[in-house]
Amino acid sequence: MTNCHRPLTFTLLGLCLASGVLAGELTSRMELSLDRVRHGGPPAYSDDFVLADAVPQHVRRFTEFSGDVSGRYLGALATVAQFSGQAFPELDRVAVKLLPLQKADGHFGDPFTTNGVANSDMALLWGNGRLLIGLLEYHRLKPTPEVLDCARRLGDCFVHLGPRFNDPAIMEKFSGDQVAVGYICWTQIIEGLVALNRATSDEKYLRLAEQIATNTHRYPKEHSHGFVSALRGVLDLYRTTRDEKWLKKVEAEWDGILASGNLLPQGALPEIFKPMIANDEGCAEADWLRLNLGLWSETRNPRYLDNAELTLFNEFFFNQFHTGDFGHHLLTAEGIDNWSARAWWCCTLHGLRAFPDVFHAAFHAEPARLCYDLPVDGQGAIVGLALQADSTLAQDSSSTMRVTQADEGEHTLRLRQPGWASNLELKLNGQPLVGVAQAGAVEVRRRWQVGDKLVVQYQLRTRLLPHPEDGSRVAILRGPWFLGINIQNAPNFFDEPSENARVLLPALDATGDLPLKPAAVEGSEPARFAAPVAYLALPYRPGGYPIQPQTVVLRPLANQTAVADATRWALWFRPAK
Ligand SMILES: [Zn+2]
Repeated sequence: MTNCHRPLTFTLLGLCLASGVLAGELTSRMELSLDRVRHGGPPAYSDDFVLADAVPQHVRRFTEFSGDVSGRYLGALATVAQFSGQAFPELDRVAVKLLPLQKADGHFGDPFTTNGVANSDMALLWGNGRLLIGLLEYHRLKPTPEVLDCARRLGDCFVHLGPRFNDPAIMEKFSGDQVAVGYICWTQIIEGLVALNRATSDEKYLRLAEQIATNTHRYPKEHSHGFVSALRGVLDLYRTTRDEKWLKKVEAEWDGILASGNLLPQGALPEIFKPMIANDEGCAEADWLRLNLGLWSETRNPRYLDNAELTLFNEFFFNQFHTGDFGHHLLTAEGIDNWSARAWWCCTLHGLRAFPDVFHAAFHAEPARLCYDLPVDGQGAIVGLALQADSTLAQDSSSTMRVTQADEGEHTLRLRQPGWASNLELKLNGQPLVGVAQAGAVEVRRRWQVGDKLVVQYQLRTRLLPHPEDGSRVAILRGPWFLGINIQNAPNFFDEPSENARVLLPALDATGDLPLKPAAVEGSEPARFAAPVAYLALPYRPGGYPIQPQTVVLRPLANQTAVADATRWALWFRPAK
C-alpha cells in the first residue's frame, strides 16, 4: 500500500491508487476540481447548501430543480472515491441526511402539479433524475438497503409518472425553446433507470427506460447537456439489453449532431443547439466527452476516440477555471469573448464526474495485447502485464510508462499514433527502441520486466484548419491542441481595429504541415495547466499599424485554466493575402 497523504501544495500532486501514484496533467486537473468541491468556494458545498434542493429550501438559485446539486454531488464524489480509493466523510454525511427528506410518493422537493404539465414539473423531473443516478453511483460505492430502497422509491415515482410524461402531446409541447425545462428533463432520466434495473433486476425500470429512449430526439434550440445525457442513457440501455437498435440510435444521433454543425471545431458543444449558439457549458462538454469514450469502448470505432481526445485537450480543459470550477464562456466568430460564469450549480460537479471515465480510457485490454489509447495518466493490464502511464505531454510531448507487473511470457503493447503525431519515438530504459508500425499505431512485443521504463515521445504536427463556414478564417493546431491568442498574455494582438489584423503564414511543407517556429516564453509564466510544448511564434500585421509587423505567441486554448476568468481569445485568424 502506498503511503499517501493529501498533498499540501499542488506541486506535489499525485493520485494515490492501490497500485501506485499517478502524476500528470489529468491527475492535477482532477485534483484541482476535487479540491474545489471539497474545500473551495464561494459558494462552499456545505451539507445544508447541497441539500437545499432536496428539502427544498429556496435559499440559493435553482433549488426548484430539486435534487440537482444533491445528486450531482453524490455521484461525482462517489465516482472519484471509487476510482481513487479515497474516502470522503462528507459524502456519507450528505447521503445520511438526504434519505429522510424523501416525500411519500418517492420524489424530492416541492409537489408536482396535478393538472397538465407545468415548467415547474419539468424542473422537478430534472433534479430528481440527476438525484436517481447520483444515489445509484453512491450505492455502487457503498451498497446499503436504505440507499437502494430510496432509489427504488424514486424510480417507482417515475414509473407512476410515466404515462403522463410519455404522452406525445407533452413531448411536443416541451420540444420547443424551453431549454432547461424542455423535454430533456424527462429523457435524461434514462441512465438512472438503467442503473436502477442493474441494482435491483426489476424489469419495470428497463421498460420505462425503453419507452423514454423511443421518445428521445434532437431538435433545434435543445439543451445539449440534457440531450447528450439522454444519449448516454440510451447507450447504457444498449449495454444492459445488448439490443443493437439502441446502439444504432445513439450512433445516428451522434452523426446528426455533427451533420447539423452543433459540434464546434474545438470539440465544444454549445449549451443550446443551433440556431441559438451563444456559449459553451461544462456539463455538455463533459457529457460529449463521456459519450464518445462510451461509444469508443462499445464499438472501437476510432472516430469516437479521436473526438473524445479533441474535446478533452481543448474544450474540456479550456472550460475548467483556475479555481477548479467548470461553467460557461461566450463564443464569438473570433473565438471567446470576455464573459464567463462558474456554474457551481451543475458544471463544476458534472466536470469532476467526467475525470474517472477519462482515466479509465487511457488503456484498453484486448485478448492478445494491451493498448495505450489516450496520452494521459492511467493504468492498464492484461494477463501477465500491468503498466502505469504518467503523461507530461504538455511539457515535453511525452508519456512515460512503467511496468508494474510482468510474468515470464512475451506480451504486446500497442501504442496509438494519433493523426496529430507524425511519429512516435520510443526509449526503453534510456535506449532507443524501434516498434513495429501498424495502421495508426506502433506495437512493441517483448518479455517485459517489472520496473521497465518506456518513454513515448510524440512528434507533434502543426496543422492548418479552415473554418467550416467562413472561408476567410483559419485555425492552427499543434499536436492535439487548438492554438489561440489570449488578451491577458498578448494584449497588443487585440489593438484596434483588431478585426483588420492579418496573420503571416508560411507555405505548407511537403507533408501538408505548417512550418511555424516554436516559441520560448521568458519570465514567470506559470507552467501549471499550460502546455508550453505547443507554443508557436506567429508573425502578423496589426490592424492599426500594418507597417510594423509583429510576432505573437500562440498558446493552447487549454491554457485558459492558467489565466484569469473571462479572458478574451482569438482562435480564428485571417491570413494575409
Ligand atoms: Zn452545467
